[in-house]
Amino acid sequence: MPPKPKAKPPAKKAIAAKKPAPARPKAGGSAKSPRLKEPAAAARVGEIFHRLATANPEPKGELEHVNPYTLLVAVVLSAQATDAGVNKATRALFAAADTPQKMLALGEDKVRDHIKTIGLFRNKAKNVIALSEKLVAEHGGEVPRDREALETLPGVGRKTANVVLNIAFGEHTLAVDTHVFRLAHRLDFSKGKTPLDVELDLLKIIPAEYMRHAHHWLILHGRYICQARKPLCDACVISDLCHAPEKWFDGLPPDPRTQRKAAP
Ligand code: SF4
Repeated sequence: MPPKPKAKPPAKKAIAAKKPAPARPKAGGSAKSPRLKEPAAAARVGEIFHRLATANPEPKGELEHVNPYTLLVAVVLSAQATDAGVNKATRALFAAADTPQKMLALGEDKVRDHIKTIGLFRNKAKNVIALSEKLVAEHGGEVPRDREALETLPGVGRKTANVVLNIAFGEHTLAVDTHVFRLAHRLDFSKGKTPLDVELDLLKIIPAEYMRHAHHWLILHGRYICQARKPLCDACVISDLCHAPEKWFDGLPPDPRTQRKAAP
């Protein structure tokens, strides 16, 4: 009996079709911003920070403080308030109390009185007293250089912890406020939908040598140049590297047909 003919191997095309599709990256910046992986994109990020650093080599935060404790209190008070408004209130407050022990001695009523020009002042006064109590009881009256410990303090979230770790202790953290969030989207650094998504994206792409001050460069650029409603693109040192559809030139608004919905 002649041998049974062997089954024909499947056509090459069929094999290729069965190949599993590459796994879709789950979350995070590079997954949503694949262009940032390219060398040219990395060079662009480096050039953007190089220019911001050249324009302002030693950027400073605008919240007045005299030590890590007063910085922590100022940041807690700055939620939904302007830095200028907070400074106006804290000058007298910090002259009266610049340590947690002195703040406790001052008492909640007087703290509330000092900060009554700031939004949500009743709740903020409670938090200032409660966080001072915790600092005295658990940290010897010192501000801990530790994210987890900071985030257990009343009124302190990730953003506040990032600001304190960066400014008071020189850590390479990055707080995402409304300015940083907007700028990260306009510059195509992130497509993140939450501040945490954006923070994690930025931490992945900002070169290490710029991390110490990246937070300030982005905030100051967003606050004074890349403003939400009418960015000052004609005065922007990175305008040739920016492809945002929100760009204004020669005082003219962007084409409404290409403009994205403004980031919050
Ligand atoms: S060019 Fe305009 S939109 Fe782009 S970063 Fe500068 S100010 Fe912002």
